[in-house]
Amino acid sequence: MALIVQKFGGTSVADPDRIRAVAEHVAFTKSRGNDVVVVVSAMGKATDNLLALADSVSGTQHGREMDMLLTTGERVSAALTTMALHALGVDAVSFTGSQVGIITDNVHRKAKILEVKGDRVREALAAGKVAVVAGFQGVSIDREITTLGRGASDLTASALAKALDADACEIYTDVTGVFTADPRIVPQARKLHRISFDEMLEMAGAGSKVLALRSVEFARNHNVPLHVRSSFTWEQGTWVTDQQESNMEEPIISGVVTDLSESKVTIVAVPDRPGISAALFEPLAAANVNVDMIVQNTSHDGTTDISFTMPKADMATAESIVSRIAAEIGARGVEHDNQIAKISLVGAGMKSSPGIAAKMFRTLADNEVNIAMISTSTIRISVVTSAADLEKAARSLHTAFGLDSGEAYSAPLPERK
Ligand code: ADP
Ligand code: ASP
Ligand code: MG
Repeated sequence: MALIVQKFGGTSVADPDRIRAVAEHVAFTKSRGNDVVVVVSAMGKATDNLLALADSVSGTQHGREMDMLLTTGERVSAALTTMALHALGVDAVSFTGSQVGIITDNVHRKAKILEVKGDRVREALAAGKVAVVAGFQGVSIDREITTLGRGASDLTASALAKALDADACEIYTDVTGVFTADPRIVPQARKLHRISFDEMLEMAGAGSKVLALRSVEFARNHNVPLHVRSSFTWEQGTWVTDQQESNMEEPIISGVVTDLSESKVTIVAVPDRPGISAALFEPLAAANVNVDMIVQNTSHDGTTDISFTMPKADMATAESIVSRIAAEIGARGVEHDNQIAKISLVGAGMKSSPGIAAKMFRTLADNEVNIAMISTSTIRISVVTSAADLEKAARSLHTAFGLDSGEAYSAPLPERK
């Protein structure tokens, strides 16, 4: 008998029909003699809707109250999934993150897990029940309700799988696995049967949201293999493990990653003297703003422009800090660009293959895509372009690096409501 953690994302529990389909799948897994722990996300766009509601009553989003609000989304789907299991005659019980002892630090909206107790889950399993856990949430050491960051039900699943020493951690979503690119943007994307933690980490870090970054970090650090698969087709998906796809030569490029979730901020005509970058980025770090790419243009007249990208979601926090610091350091002004895309090539073989960056830039130039920023790591190259160029850039790179599958993605791609 195995212990299986099954996580269902927003589209997988988007409406009553989908919740019943999930319950049937869980019931089937249980009927095969397995213990099952279910982790659910909020239904469909419930979290986005809650964020919009908060925006409509107040411009300032108090962390504690936001977490009180946002955790309700997952609580709704956990209770409904449990009721759907009851309707199938399966004994099941729902829990919040707090009830199962997911203990976090005190940082609202982006709390880090410190410990997973899991006692109530173990008790439920011992009593023959399916435990249904609301994802994305925990309780802080100060006993406040916290959330773990966008997409973090994936993290709840991997953390529970580790704490319970589960035999499998299955991440059910609306695509059939991890592909060489987002199949919604590049229909020719190819499904990977296996991907290493390191490559998945770079893909998630570059902004591919098929798995949340911190869930991959956690899975890698604690060696929890993840099986990413579809709750619409139930076919075998992609294994994310500590091994490469094959024991042969590593592929040079394993994927093209696209990301529309960032904004670019430029601080114009900053005096060029020591300490300016520290003065700017220290307060942003202290406010938990995840600054991503940074570019500083060379200075001619004693001033320089500093541009950086950061999540659009952090803009409200960053805006006041940046304008305050810009005034303090005597910059001419601050510009924002929300219409940017980040496009990255990821591949473990890149570190031993020169010329990848040159080929990437040539491909983009031939397709008339202008590059605004560039950053690299040993196994990733990222560029920032205008959002309008995202599809053209991603598809042309996918073709140029020989990743096209020869047939378009054919499984259902449900619309996200
Ligand atoms: P869930 O709500 O199930 O957590 P997400 O939206 O977080 O789902 O992640 C699934 C989505 O990730 C897919 O619908 C797909 O559009 C997108 N995606 C981005 N990059 C990839 C990729 N390389 N492979 C598969 N899906 C990807
Ligand atoms: N509902 C949360 C979000 O939309 C968490 C998740 O779906 O994993 O970010
Ligand atoms: Mg997700």
